[in-house]
Amino acid sequence: MLSMSMPVPPALDPPRRILMGPGPSDTHPRVLAALGAPTVGHLDPYFLQVMDDSQKMLREVFRTKNELTLAVSGTGSSGMEACVVNLIEPGDRMVVCVNGVFGGRMADVAERAGAVVTKIERPFGEIIPADEVAAVVKKVSPKVFGIIHAETSTGAWQPLPEISKIVHDAGALMLVDTVTSLGGIPLEVDEWELDAVYSGTQKCLSCPPGLSPVTFSPRALAAMDARKTKVASWYLDMSMVRNYWGQQRAYHHTAPINMNYALREALRLVLEEGLENRHARHKKNHLALKAGIEAMGLKYAVPASHCLPMLNAIQIPDGVNDAAVRSQLLNEFGIEIGGGLGSMKGKVWRIGLMGETSSQRNVLVCLAALEKCLLDQGQKPAAGAGVAGAIAAYR
Ligand SMILES: *Cc1c(COP(=O)(O)O)cnc(C)c1O
Repeated sequence: MLSMSMPVPPALDPPRRILMGPGPSDTHPRVLAALGAPTVGHLDPYFLQVMDDSQKMLREVFRTKNELTLAVSGTGSSGMEACVVNLIEPGDRMVVCVNGVFGGRMADVAERAGAVVTKIERPFGEIIPADEVAAVVKKVSPKVFGIIHAETSTGAWQPLPEISKIVHDAGALMLVDTVTSLGGIPLEVDEWELDAVYSGTQKCLSCPPGLSPVTFSPRALAAMDARKTKVASWYLDMSMVRNYWGQQRAYHHTAPINMNYALREALRLVLEEGLENRHARHKKNHLALKAGIEAMGLKYAVPASHCLPMLNAIQIPDGVNDAAVRSQLLNEFGIEIGGGLGSMKGKVWRIGLMGETSSQRNVLVCLAALEKCLLDQGQKPAAGAGVAGAIAAYR
């Protein structure tokens, strides 16, 4: 018989962290307050207004006029899956750029959706060169071309405009992962003619994980309308989801109401700050962190020419215990940073400066804490050099 005597676990009391990993990032108190607002029904007029507001703000943030712009229920990976399964029918050709973990994930998602996938591969940390894209799309003539704007696993910043032109000249649709880039670096969905774009809430939008903003161009819509087969995923089928976000308001699945409140508040914060100011803030704090890291004698894993401001991949010095430093940062200072993924596992630390986390306070605290950890590892960083380097950059 089922025992009824299980002790009830203690009340929730999460530690206060500074989230300087690859996501989630710190959330603004206004966003957390929005999560705790009264839940209404998913067809309540109040909630429909919340959806409309978010769609309008998402168009601003994505820099697009695309009608089909909404928040998929699920984390960033659900947006990846939504873009792929709505554009791909079994047997369609797709080219996927793989220079990190997330490109690899997109190729996996595409294969599962039945695409015939051709990969353009580059070592972790490098970007995808436009001339290689030109050669491959000419040879393969794909329906869809997929690429990661900000590869969070490596810290590489992929330029898009030239590649987008090449892809369109070859008659393909441009599918772009902007999970980490949205709200942190410039992204121009319409100007760069990106066709299917997805993001996530917990990186530079500084909202808890749980929704995936997406936007589809008229070209992508035409491809979706011309499908001969049903979308492989019922849950992510945009032909149904859009009837809920559009004027019909047809029930499809129950929207995560409070997560949508949180996203609305996070988007308000983004627009209050202004996209340009937000990008400038990310850049300024990145440059200060970098000055400090280099003053401590550490090196970046990605060249400055394509280094992301919100994700700093730093080479772990020889003789330093990766896991020990990360747990010391967490336990002694409440700072979370990320370890390496894939071929960078054990070789780099990933320090995130995303959204709310990107601040002068966090940069200086992180550098000071890291100095203590390195000393405890038997390293000899020049006393105070990291903090001094960052302060000099700020001044
Ligand atoms: C975080 C991330 C994802 C996956 O998002 P989840 O919210 O973890 O599902 C996809 N792509 C990139 C570039 C990311 O950084």
